[in-house]
Amino acid sequence: MGMLDGQRALVFGVANDHSIAWGIAQALHEAGASVGFSSVESLLERGVRPLAESIGSTFIEPCDVQSDEQIRAVFTKWRAAHGPDEKLDILVHALAFARREDLEGSFVDTSRQGFAVALDVSAYSLVAVVREARAAGLLQPGSSILTLTYYGAEKVVSNYNVMGVAKAALEASVRYLAADLGPEGIRVNAISAGPVRTLAAAGIAGFKKMYGSFADLAPLRQNISIEDVGRTALYLASDLSRAVTGETIYVDGGFHIMGVPSADA
Ligand code: NAP
Repeated sequence: MGMLDGQRALVFGVANDHSIAWGIAQALHEAGASVGFSSVESLLERGVRPLAESIGSTFIEPCDVQSDEQIRAVFTKWRAAHGPDEKLDILVHALAFARREDLEGSFVDTSRQGFAVALDVSAYSLVAVVREARAAGLLQPGSSILTLTYYGAEKVVSNYNVMGVAKAALEASVRYLAADLGPEGIRVNAISAGPVRTLAAAGIAGFKKMYGSFADLAPLRQNISIEDVGRTALYLASDLSRAVTGETIYVDGGFHIMGVPSADA
């Protein structure tokens, strides 16, 4: 028997098999959950559908999270596909965006428009997705919501810039959502992952170098994988974490506990 037998999950943010969202989807599937997918339309046929079908998923719907209408449409289709009494046990939000020019150079040069786009896609979208799922009556006591964040939310990481500000807003949103939804028995948590080589990460100037030195600095002396994130997602999605909400849990080999690196590191 799987830990999530009979549960339904919906995962936003798979681009390809390197995506953190895919690592999470696989872990949920292996634990017995039935997993649906929503990604931007341009990714669906080439990247997402073959992966989704490889784990038996039939729910694969487009959504640009900058559109409330598109978010609403996903949940309307979810309801139509699964019936009026079926709820959503697990909701995964694993997506972010900032313009490439805002992920290099100095933060002080971030444009008004670049700031707005990064915050809208990377932070506000969690609020919008949760609100619409709840309005559609899909969340219930025991439902678990997960999002993905990064250490650049709390410390300055070169070139992460406006995305660090967006992740700080995302982490605060997790706490406010957890406080709002806790009385309904709905939990909201974030995973702060160490660097992973994905399409989104490739847009950050200097990522390769940072990724390369990470294992030397992290206490566990290794980079993390999407499977590592998937395992913590499984904990947060399941009853094992039933008293945990509003948290940011690090899956970073301990990197965030370190202060000044030693001279020989
Ligand atoms: P990824 O595979 O490139 O996934 C990012 C996803 O976000 C893509 O599917 C992307 O679609 C989607 N997206 C962007 N704008 C969107 C929009 N308006 N509507 C709907 N989807 C949109 O990269 P990833 O690294 O796995 O990212 C997943 C999450 O993990 C993000 O929140 C990221 O910040 C976080 N994270 C990543 C790392 C890392 O080192 N990779 C570390 C910590 C946290 P497009 O490809 O079309 O833009």
